[in-house]
Amino acid sequence: MRSTFESRSPADASDLLGSFSIADDAAIAAAVKRARHAFPAWRDAGPEARAGILRRFAEYAAGAEDELARLLAREVGKALWDARGEARLLPAKVGVTLDDGLALVAPIEASADARTTTHPRGVLAVLGPFNFPLHLPNGHIAPALATGNTIVFKPSELAPACGERLTELFREAGLPDGVLEIVHGAGETGRSLATHPDVDAVLFTGSYAVGRALREATIDQPGKLLALEMGGNNAVLVLDDADLDLAVSETALSIAATTGQRCTCARRLFVHRSVAEPFTRKLVAVLRGLRVGPPLEDGVFMGPLVSIGAAEALAQSRREAESAGGERILLVEPDLPAPYVGAGLVRYTGLAQTHPVQRDESFGPEAALYTVADLDEAIAAANDSDYGLAASVFSADRTHYERCIGRLRVGCLNWNRATVGASGRLPFGGLRRSGNDRPAGASSTVYCTVPQAHLESEAGFDPEGLPPGMPRP
Ligand code: NAD
Repeated sequence: MRSTFESRSPADASDLLGSFSIADDAAIAAAVKRARHAFPAWRDAGPEARAGILRRFAEYAAGAEDELARLLAREVGKALWDARGEARLLPAKVGVTLDDGLALVAPIEASADARTTTHPRGVLAVLGPFNFPLHLPNGHIAPALATGNTIVFKPSELAPACGERLTELFREAGLPDGVLEIVHGAGETGRSLATHPDVDAVLFTGSYAVGRALREATIDQPGKLLALEMGGNNAVLVLDDADLDLAVSETALSIAATTGQRCTCARRLFVHRSVAEPFTRKLVAVLRGLRVGPPLEDGVFMGPLVSIGAAEALAQSRREAESAGGERILLVEPDLPAPYVGAGLVRYTGLAQTHPVQRDESFGPEAALYTVADLDEAIAAANDSDYGLAASVFSADRTHYERCIGRLRVGCLNWNRATVGASGRLPFGGLRRSGNDRPAGASSTVYCTVPQAHLESEAGFDPEGLPPGMPRP
């Protein structure tokens, strides 16, 4: 059986980032045991001591921003502007956790004799995706550590070097041994870690298919918390009064940022029929002009997809869209070989979204255009989805946007802003196949903790308090 694997840049197969050992069941059990052993002291260290280490990590991460951005660009092909944006999120997450996240799990003082205290869950498994291999694992790790948990982290098998560097930065900041363990491998390793009986919770970011598999694999462990952050099939609504240049540029960004490999990327565009022609013309022109190239090169907007397999999957879903009745109106062929890809658009007549390719998440710079008659039709069409992560509404009129609030069934709803924009100071998560109501972002501390409820009395025995019919002792 293969016991190691290599990580190579999707932009340059000769760029080897490292060779990593695949953790077998024994290695996973040993990592969980070390994390369990470290747990009581880390729990009892108290919030100030933990915050001190997290602040030092934030300093180190800020100091390493350029190095981290280059590592991201090499390992997953993220263009430098985009990679720098991700690297900047590491220290920011620490600030949000310590300033806002801990406040969300502050003890409740209900009355003089009733209160709660807040406690870590124990040993948590963090399973990371490839597309934000630093920020998204850190989005679980920072709040889990701040609240006193210990962690076994399995990065994506497509980004093991990023996972190693993140872990190293935490350890350099002074984390005691065992508080943050790392194991490597693909699905089998993830499954074995997630189902380990001494893991108290699984904090997962990835696809719906794997989230579902995790739910199934842990069905006999009902006490194990699963926080599932999964995919999206996100909608953009462009109304007849929208600022078209704004709508076009934010939509193009939503389709193609991170080469279309963000969970919040726009996949479905619902455009009012009266502006469909100019919107489409302008969007095609912007998407056609996006600069595709080596991720480390200045001025490049999109690097390659993460792997040849990802490029093949995108090509397959593009073919399916055409056989499902989508009219291809754009397919940019880049000068560079796969896994470099260009942006694409298909247009459907009618609003039926019955073919799997219209309903599943495809990961790449590709979107489908639909024409709508009015706002309510756009809302209904956008809601005709198995996912519910993000949506954007473009309209000059705030009341149109406010009509969408609560009616569009998504966790993140933006007005005149890209679907790919999110504030770290807010909760982040989706509904249905996008998540299981354990939003991350600022509220990650909530799923990392459990409250304990207390009734308390300092008074001695009072016979007056006895119910009728109960004898005094
Ligand atoms: P993925 O689901 O393929 O893998 C995610 C992680 O799960 C990896 O570490 C992988 O090794 C592990 N894994 C795979 N099979 C497993 C199994 N059977 N049991 C346990 N672990 C297993 O996802 P990906 O391709 O790395 O990332 C892209 C996906 O993540 C997209 O669907 C995207 O929308 C989603 N995503 C969601 C969010 C969010 O916050 N909602 C953010 C980023 C990415």
